[in-house]
Amino acid sequence: MEKFCCDSFRFRYEGVSELGLNFRIIKLSQDFIDRGYLGENRYRYLITEGYKVFDQDMKMLVMEFCPYCGTKLASLYNSDQYINEQNHPF
Ligand SMILES: [Zn+2]
Repeated sequence: MEKFCCDSFRFRYEGVSELGLNFRIIKLSQDFIDRGYLGENRYRYLITEGYKVFDQDMKMLVMEFCPYCGTKLASLYNSDQYINEQNHPF
């Protein structure tokens, strides 16, 4: 069962990717890590402008904390069950 820091985050996270601003959780690929990624958390938390195809040209912003309640995202969303993008390029 997935747990969420707050309903506002959940709403943006569960929304379809094409609409509005939304939150996506991705996991960095092994290939990306093999190329020299240094860090403890393989997950990334993105605000995107909405998209059909996830690519590096779309506007996105990495977040560390929930913009609504301030929870440190890595402390809660740190397992594969939360991933909602598998097709990202990194
Ligand atoms: Zn929150």
